[in-house]
Amino acid sequence: MNRTASLLLATLALASACDSKTATTGEASVAAKTATASAINAVANDPADAPTSGAAATATDEANAAPAPAPGTIPAAKAADAAAITARKQVPILCYHQIRDWTARDSKGAKDYIVPIAQFKAQIKMLADSGYHAVLPDQVYAYMTTGAKLPSKPVMLTFDDTDLDQFTVARPELAKYGYKGMYFVMTVSLGRPHYMSKAQVKQLSDEGNVIGSHTWDHHNVKKYQGQDWVTQIDKPTKTLEDITGKKINYFAYPFGLWNEQAFPELKKRGFVAAFSLAEKRDQQDPLFTIRRIIASGYWSPKTLRNNIVQSF
Ligand SMILES: [Zn+2]
Repeated sequence: MNRTASLLLATLALASACDSKTATTGEASVAAKTATASAINAVANDPADAPTSGAAATATDEANAAPAPAPGTIPAAKAADAAAITARKQVPILCYHQIRDWTARDSKGAKDYIVPIAQFKAQIKMLADSGYHAVLPDQVYAYMTTGAKLPSKPVMLTFDDTDLDQFTVARPELAKYGYKGMYFVMTVSLGRPHYMSKAQVKQLSDEGNVIGSHTWDHHNVKKYQGQDWVTQIDKPTKTLEDITGKKINYFAYPFGLWNEQAFPELKKRGFVAAFSLAEKRDQQDPLFTIRRIIASGYWSPKTLRNNIVQSF
């Protein structure tokens, strides 16, 4: 899938994921897209503001002090049931795609997925200035399943679709604040122009970021049958494990779209959790529908902060 098509589909997915009526049926539509843009704008214009905290995160902050236990080391008997997991306060999780300046060719809808470089830097600086601590999925998983403590003001930063600017722009920016992130890699793109190489993905992993599976070429999980699970899940996940030398424990649904049939398929392949977008979690399987919000290119740092507070 080419870059434009991928972005277009991602745009439709945002529309689907963010509009509750549409999310119920799972079908993206132009109407939903319009509704999503309105919703984002409504939030952006919301005069309500969250209080500012002066505490800045540092490179030696508590988020990095103690590694969380690996998911496989948490005994099932100690893990909370779905109701207990759902009852816990959600950890704010942000989802980024492209980080680059807008061009005349970028559509209105695409700009939710393209965060201009200065805007991205301002968003991340806001998180640090407000005292947010970037956490990683093992910490979130341990918190959800056992109630393990998280640092104060946790936030998880996730990057989807293998875009090169996640390596060239986001990686050094996060490093300034001692932040690490989660990168959901679509393997068809590895090494293509404007996308990360295998060596760059390995470097991210070696530096303490976490690599997650995001299919081979971004097909909708709800449509998989038979061999699709091998093509979209088994093979690309093995590729990522070969690149990183680590087990891949986490999955992100393309377009944020999922159905209940996907959960057992992902579980039997060794995933311990999966990430969707802004729609409601599944009540029986909250670990396989962990919510994220797309940090829009339109969002000022203040709007982002408001949305973090309101959405989770
Ligand atoms: Zn994606």
